[in-house]
Amino acid sequence: MSTCNHDCSSCKEKCEKSSFMATPKPTTKIGKMIAVVSGKGGVGKSMVTDLLAVGTLRRGYKVAVLDADITGPSIPKAFGITEKAYGSEDGTTIYPVISGQGVKLMSMNLLLDEDNSPVVWRGPVISGAVKQFYTDVEWEDVDFMYVDMPPGTGDVPLTVFQSLPIDGIVVVTTPQDLVSMIVEKAVKMAELMNVKVIGLVENMSYISCPCCGERIYPYGKSKLEEIAGQYSLPILGRIAIDEKLSKAVDEGLIEEIEDCPLDDAVTVVTNI
Ligand code: ADP
Repeated sequence: MSTCNHDCSSCKEKCEKSSFMATPKPTTKIGKMIAVVSGKGGVGKSMVTDLLAVGTLRRGYKVAVLDADITGPSIPKAFGITEKAYGSEDGTTIYPVISGQGVKLMSMNLLLDEDNSPVVWRGPVISGAVKQFYTDVEWEDVDFMYVDMPPGTGDVPLTVFQSLPIDGIVVVTTPQDLVSMIVEKAVKMAELMNVKVIGLVENMSYISCPCCGERIYPYGKSKLEEIAGQYSLPILGRIAIDEKLSKAVDEGLIEEIEDCPLDDAVTVVTNI
């Protein structure tokens, strides 16, 4: 449906989407849900999720992160969370963990006894867990929820797009990534699922020389502009390879970083 606003609660149309839509807690009120996707792991999708969340929080919005990367959860670590999430006695509600500066988080790592325990589950069970992170968590009032998706186009992304009211996706790539193929796949999946592609973020774009500040492009010239033009998509930001960022993640201090390199991206995302 061309007029679909993904809010099935206020829509009388019977469509394929509405039959799959999950229902959150009655107290959950989420303004916009943005999924952060990538073609493969390790390109900095979680980093981009963290930075978008931090940047959005700094604009005064209420922010949440749903870590849908069930087998490779990394969000709580970046926010320095060591506590575990807890639930109601009747087992029907999970409470999100709230970071030092107020980001609400839900992640598989917040439910595991040990952070290093592997999740060895089959696809449908993993997808069920992601859905429960939306339906069973007492999120309450949130202006922007970022969903850190697992890489690729498997079971979980399909479940998320079919059952969560995603307003748009941010695609993360790196210069050495097969950018055109990844962007094309993301655009086609978004089209299939009736979801808007908000734009592209290139991570690990360059290194700033510590002596003179000159930009060094270790992966050669980026093809992002060309591809973005081809699909009429905005480039939301480019992030340098920066030890400050990886250190902040490793030390759980992502909320403390001085300059958010995705400030312009935050402006676009918060205006959708
Ligand atoms: P993904 O979610 O795509 O698997 P991550 O966000 O977990 O990737 O990033 C993989 C690793 O690379 C992490 O250790 C992260 O801290 C580091 N990293 C990501 N982006 C940058 C960057 N721009 N500069 C330095 N380190 C980065």
